[in-house]
Amino acid sequence: MFKRILLPTDGSQTSRHAAFTAAEFLKAGQGVEVTIVLAVSLLVAEESDFDGEYVTRHNNTMVMRAEAVLQKAAAIFAEKGIAHNTKIIHGDPVSLAIDKEATSGGYDIIIMGSHGLGMEKTDTHYLGSVTERVIRRSEIPVMVIPVHHIGKGRGDE
Ligand code: ATP
Ligand code: MN
Repeated sequence: MFKRILLPTDGSQTSRHAAFTAAEFLKAGQGVEVTIVLAVSLLVAEESDFDGEYVTRHNNTMVMRAEAVLQKAAAIFAEKGIAHNTKIIHGDPVSLAIDKEATSGGYDIIIMGSHGLGMEKTDTHYLGSVTERVIRRSEIPVMVIPVHHIGKGRGDE
């Protein structure tokens, strides 16, 4: 059985829809635990053209936003009594950060959306680049939850 679930989220409606879908079929207890991750790439002061103060402010804002997104996703699992935790992960590209977490964290499966924030402005039938790359890299199963009608997904709730 899949017990350790890696659920990458970017806060998009589609990734929220993926979380709602996972929360629907996962059973609380029996060792099931969902780790919700958001990958952020922080500026590195020594490598940045910006001054140190700007870098710190920028990074703090990124982390605060990431934490808010993670908490919203966590609430979906909390409501169902499903064990979960949240984590900000780092690395560029995002797909590599997710793959590293998947490998080092001993997960059984990755569950993610077919699109993300980028999709919300374009056509509905393409696969997001993060999803595509995670599928290409991953050594564990990847469950992709599609949303072909943005605005009708459960991410709206
Ligand atoms: P693109 O980024 O290629 O323009 P997109 O934003 O529509 O397209 P993706 O970024 O591939 O699509 O998003 C697909 C899924 O990947 C999301 O539903 C989410 O599960 C995951 N994802 C995307 N970005 C991140 C991130 N920064 N951290 C964690 N998971 C992410
Ligand atoms: Mn994206």
